[in-house]
Amino acid sequence: MKVIQAEYIWLDGQKPTAKLRSKTKIIEEPGRKLEAIPEWGFDGSSTEQATGSFSDCALFPVAFFKDPIRGGANILVMCEVMNPDGTPHSSNTRARLTKAAEKYRNHDPLFGIEQEYTLYDKDGVRPLRWPEGSGFPAPQGRYYCGVGSDEVYGRELIEAHTKACLEAGILICGTNAEVMPAQWEFQVGPLGPLEAGDHLWAARWLLYRLGENLGISAKLDPKPIAGDWNGAGAHTNFSTKAMRENGGLKVIEAACKKLGQFHKEHIAVYGADNDRRLTGKHETCGINEFRYGVSDRGASIRIPMATANAGCGYLEDRRPAANMDPYLVLTALLETVCGEGFEG
Ligand code: ADP
Ligand code: MN
Ligand code: MN
Ligand code: MN
Repeated sequence: MKVIQAEYIWLDGQKPTAKLRSKTKIIEEPGRKLEAIPEWGFDGSSTEQATGSFSDCALFPVAFFKDPIRGGANILVMCEVMNPDGTPHSSNTRARLTKAAEKYRNHDPLFGIEQEYTLYDKDGVRPLRWPEGSGFPAPQGRYYCGVGSDEVYGRELIEAHTKACLEAGILICGTNAEVMPAQWEFQVGPLGPLEAGDHLWAARWLLYRLGENLGISAKLDPKPIAGDWNGAGAHTNFSTKAMRENGGLKVIEAACKKLGQFHKEHIAVYGADNDRRLTGKHETCGINEFRYGVSDRGASIRIPMATANAGCGYLEDRRPAANMDPYLVLTALLETVCGEGFEG
C-alpha cells in the first residue's frame, strides 16, 4: 500500500473575513479519484465554527491538486465544511455556489480573477522593505510592472508561487508588480464557477505557505496604507456563452444595467473594509456609485477595449476587494446576471 501526505484545506468561521486552515492526513494514494480521498474532521471550537461542547465539524473533499511543495504523489485537498449531520455548515459558502453553478450551467459561465495582495515582512507590521518607523518609500509612479531591486520588492516569492501553481495544476494566467511598492497581482482563469473559486483559494494557500519559507507574509487588506497609496482588489472578469458570441456586447451591456440595480447587495459580499478602498480615487469608483464604461478604470464595471472592438467578450467587475470570498462573489454575479438578482 502506498501512502501519501494529503493537506486538507478549508475556510474557517472568522468574521467578517474567513481565513484558510489546513492539516495533514496520511492516506492511501487516491490516484485521480476524488472519491478515494477520505472524509475527515476537525475541532470547530478552535476555528469559530462550533462551541466547545459540540465541537466536531466534518471535512468533505471537493477538489484536489498536486502538492508542489512536498512533491511526489502528495496532494492538496480543498474541502467543504459540513455539520455532523452532513448538511453544509453555515460558513460553507461553496455549497451555495454549487447550487448557482448547477442552476445556470446552460449559460456556460467563465470567470477570471485578478488577485492583488501586499507583501509584509514576517511579523506583518510594515510592507516588505518599506522604511522602518514612520518613513515612506518614494511616491507611486514607477513601481507598476517595474524591474530592479529599487523598484520592486519580493519577486522571489512571486516566482516561487507562479511555479508552484503551475506544478499544482492551478490555472494561473499571469502576474505583475502593482502600483504600490510591495504590492503584486496574480490572475487565475478563465474557469467555470467552482473551479475558479477552488483555484483561487488554493493559490492563496500556496502564497501564504511559500511565504513561510522566505519570511514574507502576504495580506489581502483592501487598503493596507491610507493616503496616496493604491488599495488591493480582486477584479472579477465574467462572461457567459452569449457574451462571447457574435452580438455579445449587447448582452454585456444588459448585464451591466442589471448589476447596477443590485449594487448594494453585491457590495455587501465583495469584501470587508472595501469602503476604505472604493473611494473614487486610485482607479476605483466610489462605493456608493455605480458606473460602467468601455476601458474605464474609474468605473465599477469596465468593458475591456478588446471586447468593445470585437463586439463580444467579457466584463470586468472592479468592485471586489482583495479579501473577498470568490464563492460569494461568483454566486452574486451568477444570480444577478443569469437569474433574477442577488438577494444577499
Ligand atoms: P487587466 O487589464 O484588468 O489588468 P488581467 O490581464 O490582469 O486584466 O486579467 C484578465 C482576466 O480576465 C484574467 O483573469 C483572465 O482569466 C480573464 N478572462 C479572459 N477572458 C475571459 C472570459 N472570456 N471570461 C471571463 N474571464 C476572462
Ligand atoms: Mn490585472
Ligand atoms: Mn491590478
Ligand atoms: Mn483588472
